[in-house]
Amino acid sequence: MIQNQPPTYLNYIGGQWKTSISGETIASRNPAKPQELVGYVQKSSLADLSDAANAAKAAKDAWRKTASPVRGEYLERTANILEERLQEIAETATCEMGKSLSETKGETIRGIALLRYYAGEGMYKTGDVIPTTDGEAFMFTDRVPLGVVGVITPWNFPVSIPIWKMAPALVYGNTVVIKTAQEAAVTGSKVIECFAAAGFPDGVINMVTGSGAVIGQGIIDHPAINAITFTGSNAVGKRVAAGAAARGAKYQLEMGGKNPIIVAADADINLAVEATISGAFRSTGQKCTATSRAIIHRQVYDLFKEKLLEQIKKIKIGYGLDADTWMGPSANKDQFQTVLAYIEKGKEEGAALLCGGRRCEAEKLKYGYFVEPTVFENVKKDMTIFQEEIFGPVLVLVKVDSIEEAILTANDVKYGLSASIFTKDIGTMFYFIKNMEAGLVRINAESAGLELQAPFGGLKESSSYSREQGQGAKEFFTSTRTIYVKP
Ligand code: NAD
Repeated sequence: MIQNQPPTYLNYIGGQWKTSISGETIASRNPAKPQELVGYVQKSSLADLSDAANAAKAAKDAWRKTASPVRGEYLERTANILEERLQEIAETATCEMGKSLSETKGETIRGIALLRYYAGEGMYKTGDVIPTTDGEAFMFTDRVPLGVVGVITPWNFPVSIPIWKMAPALVYGNTVVIKTAQEAAVTGSKVIECFAAAGFPDGVINMVTGSGAVIGQGIIDHPAINAITFTGSNAVGKRVAAGAAARGAKYQLEMGGKNPIIVAADADINLAVEATISGAFRSTGQKCTATSRAIIHRQVYDLFKEKLLEQIKKIKIGYGLDADTWMGPSANKDQFQTVLAYIEKGKEEGAALLCGGRRCEAEKLKYGYFVEPTVFENVKKDMTIFQEEIFGPVLVLVKVDSIEEAILTANDVKYGLSASIFTKDIGTMFYFIKNMEAGLVRINAESAGLELQAPFGGLKESSSYSREQGQGAKEFFTSTRTIYVKP
């Protein structure tokens, strides 16, 4: 599907596809074969961003006044277009960030379902009737849009994250300026093509590609942008929060995780191993909800470790488009180097390497950003690889003596996104539910994974405590008004 002369994608501003004012572009490369170009996107400047923000501002009143069921119809049309382009867009995502095709297809199907869910949301109630102490008066609540929403997204779910932010933003009556991650901007551009083809009025949707430092920071600072929804790293999230708060813009942050799986003494070990492999290594560990710490009861530690290492040997690493590939490369050179640096840090700090730990050296893989599935044991709580999000195929094992110790260990990090436990005991399940500091608490299921109709987000430094998806999105993308009528 990659052509000899890769295509160039344009910005989408005020209903027009436009080159950046500078005319410069950025190349996007396949992390499995970095010599292969996937396409070029615009290297935009603040002037391009300003055009987009002003176009979104000019469109916001008419869009706010468009009836919400009609706004929902645009999303339904977008879903149909994305469905027609499912295979092509999933292949592009695989070529651009390396995940296996089954995963990028799954993500695109999720995007279609999200569009349909929020299309239906245009028909739901927007408020409540509240009794008043004056028998003649009438009081009710209503929800109003925020205006222009700036959307900043990461590269790891290049189809579904832009959609899970844009679909609710739009159906609740906001206009959008989106900057997708530079490392997945070709895929992002194709997603925006689907929105554009659905016929949204000019200016309702705008996309500007470019660096985080210029365009991302520009979204944080632009006075026409009333709210910012961000998914990405904690370091950048803190900048978004500080910048938005300084100018009174609403913001929402979904950030990193250091997600544990606890394996209790009574766990079904085979299921726990399966969930750990999938949680830790699917998507090459590049999910915010990926399992990165396995905390195992002493009684089952050796059995769990033995079965885990056996299963890891069966992981098929390769090009994401190859049918038998289960795990692809790190998504880009920076991420690849970061993962290898964390592995070195783990060794230096005294953790014991059980498997992996290196770049893949097979002839077909050695030029790509492939890292072996890596497991450490003898990991102490103060080690870097226990505390920090690695975002790669690296798992640490920790042995504990009780469920109380397991949960104290699991909670001993700054993150609180997702956590999972394997146990058959209902008392242990409830102890975990009551004491685990995580926004997503999962029992006998892997740490990664969520359903789109449920609210999603983390505790502690994983989030700004706002929620995405399901009905949670309404809280961020609208504001409640209270209306009092005395006839
Ligand atoms: P990142 O923070 O480097 O980038 C995210 C976005 O911010 C990109 O579009 C980037 O260009 C932009 N950006 C970079 N510098 C900026 C700046 N100074 N100002 C404004 N914007 C800027 O993150 P990433 O490497 O793309 O993604 C990986 C991270 O995302 C991981 O930490 C992962 O846990 C997190 N993530 C969280 C969730 C969640 O829902 N909690 C989901 C997916 C990924």
